[in-house]
Amino acid sequence: MFNKKTGKSKKININKNDKRKKTFNPNLFNPIYRIRIYAYIFTFFLVLYLVSLIFVIHQNRYFIATKINHINFVKEQVKDNQIIEENEIINNDIVKKNYGDDSPITKFVNNKISFYNLSYVPKNLINVSSDYVADIKWYQTLRTEANQALQQMAKDFFDNFWEKMVVVSAYRSYDYQVWIKSRWCSDLFCAKPWFSEHQTGLALDLWEASTQKEFLNNSKFVSYFEWMKENAYKYGFHNTYQKGVAVDWYVVEPWHWRYLGVSLAKKLFNENITFAEYYKNSK
Ligand SMILES: [Zn+2]
Repeated sequence: MFNKKTGKSKKININKNDKRKKTFNPNLFNPIYRIRIYAYIFTFFLVLYLVSLIFVIHQNRYFIATKINHINFVKEQVKDNQIIEENEIINNDIVKKNYGDDSPITKFVNNKISFYNLSYVPKNLINVSSDYVADIKWYQTLRTEANQALQQMAKDFFDNFWEKMVVVSAYRSYDYQVWIKSRWCSDLFCAKPWFSEHQTGLALDLWEASTQKEFLNNSKFVSYFEWMKENAYKYGFHNTYQKGVAVDWYVVEPWHWRYLGVSLAKKLFNENITFAEYYKNSK
């Protein structure tokens, strides 16, 4: 077609449009643009997947290593004590049949004496949160017996200080302890997964402090601790780690309290001995 005004043919305009089509057009219907978007999305998820994979491998490496260590440890224990019992291996856990009960209130654990059942979970775990107990984590639990004693103790504590008793940590499962250890916490500060008193569902940490020095530098905490030292045994609680590594196997922890029942806690208080000393003497 010939345009009389411009004297140019429309054919030239059509060619111009064709040229425009060949340049990049950021339009979802443009196949090149679409492929590029798919490539970006694919790369994003690939990177996300690889990062998650590295994280999971790192976590599992420790988890698997601790399980293997536990199996070897239990085998050694069985060999040393010359106890020939039926051992069952379920999902890499050694479950000792009729060998021992992990549930007594006076069950002793330290970094040499473990639970018989690696994945022991106490029954009747109850949330500690109440009018007198502040649970600063999501959902802290203790066994019924320990929880009832804690509530009574916290009520009397409240009458003295007009403050709730603050629970920083209570029952900790085997898997949770594995996670804590995966952050490379020393054995003197954090128990290995199958050795932690927190797995009994009878131990709790009160008031937040990461070291003994930090705890004792806080005058409020010191006054709470003094009250606990004088009164906790009346409710069945004992400060498990108070004489240092040589006696108790762990560093001094003024915040860590273990429910042992009133009669044993009272006995330890009267004789001024720790649970570890009592256990050693009773063997
Ligand atoms: Zn503790």
